[in-house]
Order: sequence, then C-alpha cells, then structure tokens
Amino acid sequence: MVPTDVVAALSVLNGHARAFGCGRDAIYQYKGLVARIYAAAGQANARPVGVMAKCNYCLGTGKFFCQYNGQTDDPCRKCARSGYVFLRFTETTIEGHSWHHPWISEGSEIYRRSVGASAIEYDPATRSIWVTKSDQQPANIGFGFVGDWQPNSKGEGTVGERAAELLNTVEDWLFATRPDGFDLRWDIERAQRAATGYSLRLGWIGDHCHYCGEPNIRIGQGHYVRPFEWTVRCCEVHSKMEVGTWDKRVPPAALTPAVLKWAERRSWSADKPGAAP
Ligand SMILES: [Zn+2]
Ligand SMILES: [Zn+2]
Repeated sequence: MVPTDVVAALSVLNGHARAFGCGRDAIYQYKGLVARIYAAAGQANARPVGVMAKCNYCLGTGKFFCQYNGQTDDPCRKCARSGYVFLRFTETTIEGHSWHHPWISEGSEIYRRSVGASAIEYDPATRSIWVTKSDQQPANIGFGFVGDWQPNSKGEGTVGERAAELLNTVEDWLFATRPDGFDLRWDIERAQRAATGYSLRLGWIGDHCHYCGEPNIRIGQGHYVRPFEWTVRCCEVHSKMEVGTWDKRVPPAALTPAVLKWAERRSWSADKPGAAP
C-alpha cells in the first residue's frame, strides 16, 4: 500500500516532529495522509483511545488563569475545576508502527473511514462514541486504554543529512503517489503543498570559527536563508561582526548528498544567490 521504508521513515519523523524538529506540520500531514490511505482500505487497525492528562490551561490547578489578573478563584473553563482533561486519540497500527492521531483534528475521520461508518458522534457525558453504519442501529463504543504510550512524550529530533534522508524517503513517495480510486486527491495535494512550506535545519556546521578557523569559540551565529537554517561558530573577534557582513551563503560542508537532493525538489541549487560559490 505504502512502501514499508516510507512508513518506517515516517515513524522516526513522528518523534522528530514531537521534538519540534523541522518540517513538523508537513510531517503530521504526511502521517495523517498515510493513516487515511490505510483507513480507506480497512487496514489501519484503528481504535479510539483516551487518557486523563493534567489540564494545560490551568496547569492542573483547576482555577481560571486570567490574562490580566493572573490566578482567579473561578473554575478553569477547560476542565471545570477538576485540573484534568480527557484526551482522545485514534490509535492506528500500520505496518507494525503505532501512531496516535488527535481525535478532533483528524482522529475521528481516520476512525470513521477505518470502520466504514457514515457518522460518528461523541457523547461527552459517557466519554464514548456512537458509530453509525448505513442501515444499522448506532453502536456505542468507548475509548480504550492507551497502554504505555503517553501524549506529549518526548521525541528525538535530527538535522542535516539524516533529516533530509528521512524526509526524502517520504517525499519521494508523496510526489509519486496517485489517489488510486480512494477519495484522497485533496489530502495528497495538501500534503504536497506542506512539503514546500518548511525549511531544513542543517544544525551546527564546522568545528572552528567560520571566518578565521580559530578553535576557541565564543558564540554561534544563526542563519536563516530559505529553505535552510544553520549555525556557524565564531571566535571572540568574529562574534562582534556587523550583521551586514555575515556570510549568508550555505556552508559547502552542509551540502551533503541527501541535503542537495532535498534542495533540488525546492528548485534550490548551489549556483543560485545565497548559495556557496
Ligand atoms: Zn483546567
Ligand atoms: Zn574568527
């Protein structure tokens, strides 16, 4: 359905996105698209899961935090004084990889497609859903246990060549895939648009001062020239450079094979303005 190496790369990128790695929004779109493709084929192994978590709005105090007056004695508008919220997700298991999709943004739709239901309604009083399949009575289904997974668990981010490699694997597939009879044309196009909307983080480039080679480093000098972000090291002398005199060209050492391939899809090449000579 989707090549297993693409699903595996996406699973690593899912952790990278949780760590606020580059391309976060695009990665979540790719993940949602793959889940919808498997759901449409009835192979997403989807189930609704829920977990109680500390309320983010009041930080678990249960009290309404006013922007102007600070902490009040009023009940928190999100958790109604309980300090806890019930977080809902659709868990999918695709090619052995388990992913969680927030119920409201996309999880309910993935689950609906997965079970071939015509409608799904959430009942907040019982924290369960009513699933309607054509010409059947609605069935009541609860949110299952999440197991050892926790929402907002820490992910591991990556940069440069490794990040480009993973993103290329998914994007090669994304730009070659066709809707194949499923009603997913719009989902694919939206994911393709997201692919061109983020910049690639290259990380720290070089061990010594970028300008003179001095090994004693004072600061990092951050650069953002679309579609790349990178940081070079500066010695005491070059830490005081005027911004106008900064070297804004992507360091050649950062332009490794997967990075160049990633850049090619964005019509960036080393001989264009902003690029290294
Ligand atoms: Zn709250
Ligand atoms: Zn220097």
